Amino acid sequence: MSDRIVYLDSAASTPMRPEAVEAMMPYLDQVYANPSGSHRFARQARRAIDESRDVVAEVVGVRPNEVVFTGCGTESDNTALSGAVARTGGVAVCSAAEHHAVLHVVESLGGVVVPVDRNARIDLDALASALDGLRDAGRAVAIVSVMAVNNEVGTVTDVADVAAVVRRHAPGALVHTDAVQAPSWLDLRAISPHVDLLALSAHKFGGPKGVGVLIERGGPQIDPLIIGGGQERERRSGTHNVAGIVAAATALQLTDVERVAENARLTVLRDRLVDGLVNGLDDVIETIPRDDPTVTKVAGSAHVCIGGVESEALLYLLDEAGVCASAASACASGAMEPSHVLAAMGVDREVALGALRLSLGHTTTDADVDEGLAAIIGAVTRLRDRTPAAS
Ligand code: PLP
Repeated sequence: MSDRIVYLDSAASTPMRPEAVEAMMPYLDQVYANPSGSHRFARQARRAIDESRDVVAEVVGVRPNEVVFTGCGTESDNTALSGAVARTGGVAVCSAAEHHAVLHVVESLGGVVVPVDRNARIDLDALASALDGLRDAGRAVAIVSVMAVNNEVGTVTDVADVAAVVRRHAPGALVHTDAVQAPSWLDLRAISPHVDLLALSAHKFGGPKGVGVLIERGGPQIDPLIIGGGQERERRSGTHNVAGIVAAATALQLTDVERVAENARLTVLRDRLVDGLVNGLDDVIETIPRDDPTVTKVAGSAHVCIGGVESEALLYLLDEAGVCASAASACASGAMEPSHVLAAMGVDREVALGALRLSLGHTTTDADVDEGLAAIIGAVTRLRDRTPAAS
Protein backbone atom coordinates (compact mmCIF):
# COMPACT_ATOMS: atom_id res chain seq x y z
CA MET A 1 0.00 0.00 0.00
CA SER A 2 1.36 3.39 -1.01
CA ASP A 3 1.23 6.19 1.58
CA ARG A 4 1.09 8.93 -0.99
CA ILE A 5 -2.34 9.67 -2.43
CA VAL A 6 -2.66 10.66 -6.06
CA TYR A 7 -6.14 12.09 -6.14
CA LEU A 8 -7.72 11.85 -9.58
CA ASP A 9 -11.37 11.75 -8.49
CA SER A 10 -12.37 15.42 -8.29
CA ALA A 11 -15.67 14.80 -10.07
CA ALA A 12 -16.67 12.63 -7.09
CA SER A 13 -15.60 15.23 -4.55
CA THR A 14 -12.99 17.95 -4.23
CA PRO A 15 -10.77 18.70 -1.25
CA MET A 16 -12.06 21.75 0.58
CA ARG A 17 -10.30 24.99 -0.20
CA PRO A 18 -8.36 26.20 2.85
CA GLU A 19 -10.10 29.59 2.62
CA ALA A 20 -13.46 27.84 2.85
CA VAL A 21 -12.36 25.86 5.90
CA GLU A 22 -11.14 29.07 7.52
CA ALA A 23 -14.35 30.93 6.69
CA MET A 24 -16.57 28.28 8.24
CA MET A 25 -14.71 27.84 11.54
CA PRO A 26 -16.18 30.80 13.48
CA TYR A 27 -19.68 29.59 12.64
CA LEU A 28 -19.00 26.24 14.27
CA ASP A 29 -17.77 27.34 17.66
CA GLN A 30 -18.45 31.07 18.02
CA VAL A 31 -21.48 32.22 16.05
CA TYR A 32 -23.44 29.07 16.73
CA ALA A 33 -26.88 30.61 17.25
CA ASN A 34 -29.85 29.39 15.27
CA PRO A 35 -30.22 31.98 12.49
CA SER A 36 -34.01 31.81 12.79
CA GLY A 37 -33.88 33.30 16.29
CA SER A 38 -34.68 36.90 17.16
CA HIS A 39 -31.69 37.89 19.31
CA ARG A 40 -28.59 39.68 18.11
CA PHE A 41 -26.55 36.50 18.06
CA ALA A 42 -29.08 34.90 15.73
CA ARG A 43 -29.06 38.01 13.58
CA GLN A 44 -25.30 37.66 13.23
CA ALA A 45 -25.71 34.14 11.88
CA ARG A 46 -28.53 35.32 9.60
CA ARG A 47 -26.31 38.08 8.26
CA ALA A 48 -23.68 35.51 7.32
CA ILE A 49 -26.28 33.56 5.36
CA ASP A 50 -27.50 36.71 3.62
CA GLU A 51 -23.96 37.67 2.64
CA SER A 52 -23.34 34.14 1.34
CA ARG A 53 -26.58 34.32 -0.62
CA ASP A 54 -25.40 37.58 -2.24
CA VAL A 55 -22.12 35.93 -3.26
CA VAL A 56 -23.84 32.88 -4.75
CA ALA A 57 -26.34 35.10 -6.58
CA GLU A 58 -23.53 37.17 -8.11
CA VAL A 59 -21.59 34.14 -9.31
CA VAL A 60 -24.68 32.45 -10.77
CA GLY A 61 -26.05 35.67 -12.24
CA VAL A 62 -29.40 35.73 -10.43
CA ARG A 63 -31.07 37.76 -7.69
CA PRO A 64 -30.35 36.88 -4.06
CA ASN A 65 -33.98 35.99 -3.42
CA GLU A 66 -33.74 33.36 -6.15
CA VAL A 67 -31.08 31.42 -4.21
CA VAL A 68 -32.29 28.56 -1.97
CA PHE A 69 -29.79 26.71 0.23
CA THR A 70 -30.38 22.96 0.47
CA GLY A 71 -28.62 19.94 1.97
CA CYS A 72 -26.90 18.62 -1.20
CA GLY A 73 -27.05 18.47 -4.97
CA THR A 74 -29.32 15.43 -4.80
CA GLU A 75 -31.81 17.36 -2.69
CA SER A 76 -31.75 20.29 -5.11
CA ASP A 77 -32.44 17.99 -8.06
CA ASN A 78 -35.16 16.08 -6.18
CA THR A 79 -36.81 19.32 -5.11
CA ALA A 80 -36.84 20.72 -8.64
CA LEU A 81 -38.39 17.61 -10.20
CA SER A 82 -40.77 16.49 -7.48
CA GLY A 83 -41.73 20.07 -6.72
CA ALA A 84 -42.60 20.85 -10.34
CA VAL A 85 -44.66 17.69 -10.73
CA ALA A 86 -46.40 18.25 -7.38
CA ARG A 87 -47.30 21.80 -8.37
CA THR A 88 -48.73 21.09 -11.83
CA GLY A 89 -49.41 17.36 -12.04
CA GLY A 90 -47.52 17.38 -15.35
CA VAL A 91 -44.86 15.01 -16.66
CA ALA A 92 -41.13 15.18 -15.82
CA VAL A 93 -38.70 14.68 -18.70
CA CYS A 94 -34.93 14.21 -18.63
CA SER A 95 -32.06 12.80 -20.68
CA ALA A 96 -30.83 9.23 -20.36
CA ALA A 97 -27.37 10.41 -19.26
CA GLU A 98 -28.50 12.31 -16.15
CA HIS A 99 -27.09 11.60 -12.72
CA HIS A 100 -29.30 9.24 -10.71
CA ALA A 101 -30.33 12.22 -8.56
CA VAL A 102 -32.40 13.24 -11.59
CA LEU A 103 -32.90 10.01 -13.53
CA HIS A 104 -34.27 7.96 -10.65
CA VAL A 105 -36.67 10.74 -9.68
CA VAL A 106 -38.02 11.05 -13.21
CA GLU A 107 -38.44 7.27 -13.39
CA SER A 108 -40.16 7.12 -10.01
CA LEU A 109 -42.54 9.88 -11.11
CA GLY A 110 -43.43 7.91 -14.25
CA GLY A 111 -41.73 10.48 -16.46
CA VAL A 112 -40.12 10.30 -19.87
CA VAL A 113 -36.41 9.63 -20.51
CA VAL A 114 -35.07 10.98 -23.81
CA PRO A 115 -32.11 9.33 -25.60
CA VAL A 116 -28.70 10.98 -25.86
CA ASP A 117 -26.21 11.08 -28.71
CA ARG A 118 -22.83 9.28 -28.88
CA ASN A 119 -21.40 12.09 -26.72
CA ALA A 120 -23.96 11.94 -23.88
CA ARG A 121 -25.86 15.05 -24.99
CA ILE A 122 -29.65 14.95 -25.19
CA ASP A 123 -30.89 14.30 -28.71
CA LEU A 124 -32.75 17.53 -29.54
CA ASP A 125 -34.92 15.94 -32.24
CA ALA A 126 -35.91 13.14 -29.87
CA LEU A 127 -36.69 15.74 -27.20
CA ALA A 128 -38.87 17.73 -29.58
CA SER A 129 -40.81 14.65 -30.64
CA ALA A 130 -41.21 13.43 -27.04
CA LEU A 131 -42.66 16.83 -26.10
CA ASP A 132 -44.94 16.87 -29.18
CA GLY A 133 -46.06 13.33 -28.36
CA LEU A 134 -46.99 14.30 -24.81
CA ARG A 135 -48.90 17.35 -26.08
CA ASP A 136 -50.77 15.22 -28.63
CA ALA A 137 -51.65 12.76 -25.84
CA GLY A 138 -53.07 15.66 -23.83
CA ARG A 139 -50.37 15.45 -21.16
CA ALA A 140 -48.83 18.66 -19.85
CA VAL A 141 -45.09 18.75 -19.30
CA ALA A 142 -44.13 19.99 -15.83
CA ILE A 143 -40.37 20.10 -16.19
CA VAL A 144 -37.50 19.19 -18.49
CA SER A 145 -34.16 18.48 -16.83
CA VAL A 146 -30.81 18.32 -18.58
CA MET A 147 -27.36 18.42 -17.03
CA ALA A 148 -24.90 21.17 -17.94
CA VAL A 149 -21.84 18.91 -17.61
CA ASN A 150 -21.92 15.12 -17.52
CA ASN A 151 -20.33 13.79 -14.34
CA GLU A 152 -18.91 10.66 -15.97
CA VAL A 153 -17.58 11.66 -19.36
CA GLY A 154 -17.35 15.44 -18.93
CA THR A 155 -19.38 16.51 -21.97
CA VAL A 156 -20.91 19.99 -21.92
CA THR A 157 -24.52 20.29 -23.05
CA ASP A 158 -25.61 23.59 -24.54
CA VAL A 159 -28.42 24.25 -22.09
CA ALA A 160 -29.60 27.27 -24.12
CA ASP A 161 -30.26 25.03 -27.13
CA VAL A 162 -32.22 22.58 -25.00
CA ALA A 163 -34.21 25.39 -23.40
CA ALA A 164 -35.08 26.79 -26.83
CA VAL A 165 -36.55 23.41 -27.86
CA VAL A 166 -38.54 23.22 -24.61
CA ARG A 167 -39.89 26.78 -24.95
CA ARG A 168 -41.00 25.96 -28.51
CA HIS A 169 -42.52 22.51 -27.96
CA ALA A 170 -43.71 22.70 -24.33
CA PRO A 171 -44.02 26.40 -23.49
CA GLY A 172 -45.57 25.73 -20.07
CA ALA A 173 -42.72 23.51 -18.85
CA LEU A 174 -40.01 24.56 -16.45
CA VAL A 175 -36.40 24.02 -17.52
CA HIS A 176 -34.05 22.64 -14.88
CA THR A 177 -30.34 22.09 -15.19
CA ASP A 178 -28.26 19.94 -12.91
CA ALA A 179 -25.17 22.16 -12.94
CA VAL A 180 -23.46 20.26 -10.12
CA GLN A 181 -20.37 19.54 -12.25
CA ALA A 182 -20.28 22.97 -13.91
CA PRO A 183 -18.89 25.70 -11.60
CA SER A 184 -15.20 24.86 -12.01
CA TRP A 185 -15.41 24.94 -15.81
CA LEU A 186 -18.31 27.10 -17.01
CA ASP A 187 -19.51 30.62 -16.29
CA LEU A 188 -22.85 30.03 -14.62
CA ARG A 189 -23.96 33.54 -15.60
CA ALA A 190 -24.16 32.31 -19.20
CA ILE A 191 -26.38 29.37 -18.25
CA SER A 192 -28.79 30.75 -15.65
CA PRO A 193 -30.75 33.11 -17.97
CA HIS A 194 -31.93 30.11 -19.99
CA VAL A 195 -33.34 28.04 -17.12
CA ASP A 196 -35.96 28.28 -14.38
CA LEU A 197 -34.15 25.99 -11.94
CA LEU A 198 -30.46 25.22 -11.44
CA ALA A 199 -28.82 22.84 -8.95
CA LEU A 200 -25.33 23.10 -7.40
CA SER A 201 -23.41 21.12 -4.78
CA ALA A 202 -20.65 22.72 -2.70
CA HIS A 203 -18.38 19.68 -2.39
CA LYS A 204 -17.77 19.67 -6.13
CA PHE A 205 -16.00 23.04 -6.05
CA GLY A 206 -13.95 23.06 -2.87
CA GLY A 207 -16.78 23.59 -0.41
CA PRO A 208 -18.06 21.18 2.23
CA LYS A 209 -20.25 18.15 1.74
CA GLY A 210 -23.85 18.60 2.78
CA VAL A 211 -24.54 21.99 1.20
CA GLY A 212 -26.49 22.38 -2.01
CA VAL A 213 -28.07 25.29 -3.84
CA LEU A 214 -31.27 25.39 -5.84
CA ILE A 215 -31.76 28.48 -7.94
CA GLU A 216 -35.45 29.20 -8.44
CA ARG A 217 -35.63 31.97 -11.00
CA GLY A 218 -38.66 34.18 -11.16
CA GLY A 219 -39.90 33.26 -7.71
CA PRO A 220 -41.41 30.01 -6.45
CA GLN A 221 -42.95 27.98 -9.25
CA ILE A 222 -42.60 24.59 -7.54
CA ASP A 223 -43.75 23.01 -4.29
CA PRO A 224 -41.10 22.62 -1.57
CA LEU A 225 -39.86 19.11 -0.86
CA ILE A 226 -39.02 19.68 2.81
CA ILE A 227 -41.61 21.48 4.84
CA GLY A 228 -41.50 22.44 8.49
CA GLY A 229 -40.21 25.64 10.08
CA GLY A 230 -40.49 27.68 6.90
CA GLN A 231 -36.83 28.61 6.48
CA GLU A 232 -35.60 29.85 3.10
CA ARG A 233 -38.85 31.78 2.63
CA GLU A 234 -40.87 28.56 2.92
CA ARG A 235 -38.93 26.98 0.07
CA ARG A 236 -36.72 24.69 2.16
CA SER A 237 -37.39 24.13 5.83
CA GLY A 238 -34.75 22.97 8.28
CA THR A 239 -32.25 24.84 10.45
CA HIS A 240 -29.59 26.37 8.23
CA ASN A 241 -26.12 24.84 8.03
CA VAL A 242 -24.61 28.28 8.61
CA ALA A 243 -20.94 27.23 8.61
CA GLY A 244 -21.43 25.10 5.51
CA ILE A 245 -23.25 27.84 3.65
CA VAL A 246 -20.52 30.39 4.45
CA ALA A 247 -17.84 27.94 3.29
CA ALA A 248 -19.79 27.10 0.14
CA ALA A 249 -20.05 30.76 -0.85
CA THR A 250 -16.34 31.31 -0.17
CA ALA A 251 -15.42 28.32 -2.32
CA LEU A 252 -17.77 29.31 -5.14
CA GLN A 253 -16.35 32.82 -5.29
CA LEU A 254 -12.77 31.54 -5.47
CA THR A 255 -13.75 28.99 -8.10
CA ASP A 256 -15.29 31.76 -10.17
CA VAL A 257 -12.23 34.01 -9.87
CA GLU A 258 -9.80 31.22 -10.76
CA ARG A 259 -11.93 29.51 -13.40
CA VAL A 260 -10.29 30.80 -16.58
CA ALA A 261 -6.73 30.22 -15.37
CA GLU A 262 -7.61 26.81 -13.94
CA ASN A 263 -9.24 25.75 -17.20
CA ALA A 264 -6.01 26.56 -19.06
CA ARG A 265 -3.76 24.89 -16.46
CA LEU A 266 -5.85 21.74 -16.18
CA THR A 267 -6.37 21.35 -19.93
CA VAL A 268 -2.61 20.93 -20.28
CA LEU A 269 -2.47 18.38 -17.45
CA ARG A 270 -5.52 16.49 -18.68
CA ASP A 271 -4.16 16.31 -22.22
CA ARG A 272 -0.84 14.99 -20.93
CA LEU A 273 -2.66 12.36 -18.89
CA VAL A 274 -4.85 11.13 -21.75
CA ASP A 275 -2.06 11.29 -24.34
CA GLY A 276 0.18 9.38 -21.94
CA LEU A 277 -2.39 6.60 -21.65
CA VAL A 278 -3.22 6.43 -25.34
CA ASN A 279 0.46 6.41 -26.32
CA GLY A 280 1.71 4.27 -23.45
CA LEU A 281 -0.78 1.41 -23.81
CA ASP A 282 -2.43 -0.46 -26.67
CA ASP A 283 -6.17 -0.51 -27.05
CA VAL A 284 -7.13 2.63 -25.12
CA ILE A 285 -10.15 4.56 -26.41
CA GLU A 286 -10.75 8.14 -25.39
CA THR A 287 -14.47 7.97 -24.67
CA ILE A 288 -15.18 11.55 -25.81
CA PRO A 289 -12.52 12.35 -28.41
CA ARG A 290 -10.94 15.75 -27.92
CA ASP A 291 -10.48 16.34 -31.64
CA ASP A 292 -14.19 16.59 -32.49
CA PRO A 293 -14.90 20.34 -32.89
CA THR A 294 -18.64 19.78 -32.35
CA VAL A 295 -18.15 18.47 -28.82
CA THR A 296 -17.08 20.45 -25.77
CA LYS A 297 -15.57 18.58 -22.86
CA VAL A 298 -14.54 20.12 -19.56
CA ALA A 299 -10.85 20.47 -18.78
CA GLY A 300 -10.99 18.30 -15.67
CA SER A 301 -12.36 15.24 -17.40
CA ALA A 302 -10.26 12.34 -18.67
CA HIS A 303 -12.42 9.32 -19.46
CA VAL A 304 -11.01 6.31 -21.26
CA CYS A 305 -12.05 2.73 -21.97
CA ILE A 306 -9.15 0.31 -21.67
CA GLY A 307 -9.38 -2.95 -23.61
CA GLY A 308 -8.60 -6.26 -21.92
CA VAL A 309 -9.12 -5.10 -18.33
CA GLU A 310 -12.11 -4.80 -16.06
CA SER A 311 -12.52 -1.49 -14.24
CA GLU A 312 -13.06 -3.14 -10.87
CA ALA A 313 -9.75 -5.00 -10.99
CA LEU A 314 -7.96 -1.92 -12.25
CA LEU A 315 -9.41 0.30 -9.53
CA TYR A 316 -8.28 -2.24 -6.93
CA LEU A 317 -4.67 -2.14 -8.13
CA LEU A 318 -4.76 1.64 -8.44
CA ASP A 319 -6.06 1.93 -4.90
CA GLU A 320 -3.15 -0.20 -3.71
CA ALA A 321 -0.80 2.17 -5.53
CA GLY A 322 -2.45 5.19 -3.85
CA VAL A 323 -4.27 6.39 -6.97
CA CYS A 324 -7.89 7.43 -6.40
CA ALA A 325 -9.94 7.08 -9.56
CA SER A 326 -13.40 5.88 -10.48
CA ALA A 327 -15.14 3.70 -13.02
CA ALA A 328 -18.57 5.22 -13.26
CA SER A 329 -20.13 7.85 -11.06
CA ALA A 330 -19.08 7.43 -7.43
CA CYS A 331 -22.56 6.33 -6.41
CA ALA A 332 -22.48 3.44 -8.88
CA SER A 333 -18.90 2.28 -8.30
CA GLY A 334 -18.74 -1.21 -6.90
CA ALA A 335 -21.24 -2.44 -9.45
CA MET A 336 -20.10 -4.70 -12.27
CA GLU A 337 -22.71 -3.39 -14.67
CA PRO A 338 -21.35 -0.79 -17.07
CA SER A 339 -22.56 2.71 -16.32
CA HIS A 340 -25.96 3.82 -17.56
CA VAL A 341 -24.27 6.82 -19.19
CA LEU A 342 -21.99 4.71 -21.38
CA ALA A 343 -24.91 2.40 -22.20
CA ALA A 344 -27.03 5.40 -23.21
CA MET A 345 -24.18 6.66 -25.42
CA GLY A 346 -24.18 3.33 -27.23
CA VAL A 347 -20.75 2.21 -26.01
CA ASP A 348 -20.42 -1.58 -26.36
CA ARG A 349 -20.78 -3.43 -23.07
CA GLU A 350 -17.35 -5.08 -23.45
CA VAL A 351 -15.69 -1.72 -24.05
CA ALA A 352 -17.61 -0.05 -21.22
CA LEU A 353 -16.46 -2.67 -18.72
CA GLY A 354 -12.94 -1.23 -19.08
CA ALA A 355 -14.05 2.33 -18.28
CA LEU A 356 -11.78 4.54 -16.20
CA ARG A 357 -12.78 8.03 -15.06
CA LEU A 358 -9.91 10.26 -14.04
CA SER A 359 -11.00 13.73 -12.97
CA LEU A 360 -8.77 16.68 -12.19
CA GLY A 361 -9.47 19.63 -9.95
CA HIS A 362 -8.05 22.60 -8.13
CA THR A 363 -5.45 20.57 -6.22
CA THR A 364 -4.19 18.45 -9.15
CA THR A 365 -0.46 18.87 -9.85
CA ASP A 366 2.07 17.82 -12.49
CA ALA A 367 3.32 15.16 -10.11
CA ASP A 368 -0.19 13.70 -9.80
CA VAL A 369 -0.29 13.26 -13.56
CA ASP A 370 3.20 11.70 -13.72
CA GLU A 371 2.56 9.30 -10.85
CA GLY A 372 -0.98 8.53 -11.97
CA LEU A 373 0.20 7.69 -15.47
CA ALA A 374 2.97 5.40 -14.25
CA ALA A 375 0.61 3.61 -11.86
CA ILE A 376 -2.14 3.12 -14.44
CA ILE A 377 0.23 1.85 -17.12
CA GLY A 378 1.81 -0.50 -14.58
CA ALA A 379 -1.53 -1.81 -13.33
CA VAL A 380 -2.98 -2.36 -16.81
CA THR A 381 0.18 -4.19 -17.87
CA ARG A 382 -0.05 -6.43 -14.81
CA LEU A 383 -3.70 -7.23 -15.45
CA ARG A 384 -3.13 -7.96 -19.11
CA ASP A 385 -0.18 -10.22 -18.33
CA ARG A 386 -2.49 -12.23 -16.06
CA THR A 387 -5.28 -12.55 -18.63
CA PRO A 388 -4.77 -15.51 -21.00
CA ALA A 389 -4.79 -14.36 -24.63
CA ALA A 390 -7.87 -15.45 -26.58
CA SER A 391 -7.08 -18.42 -28.86
N1 PLP B 1 -25.61 15.68 -10.01
C1 PLP B 1 -24.40 15.43 -10.52
C2 PLP B 1 -24.13 15.70 -11.95
C3 PLP B 1 -23.38 14.91 -9.69
O1 PLP B 1 -22.18 14.66 -10.19
C4 PLP B 1 -23.69 14.66 -8.33
C5 PLP B 1 -22.67 14.05 -7.44
O2 PLP B 1 -21.94 13.15 -7.83
C6 PLP B 1 -24.96 14.98 -7.86
C7 PLP B 1 -25.90 15.48 -8.72
C8 PLP B 1 -25.32 14.77 -6.42
O3 PLP B 1 -24.75 15.77 -5.61
P1 PLP B 1 -24.58 15.50 -4.02
O4 PLP B 1 -23.42 14.60 -3.87
O5 PLP B 1 -24.31 16.86 -3.45
O6 PLP B 1 -25.84 14.93 -3.53
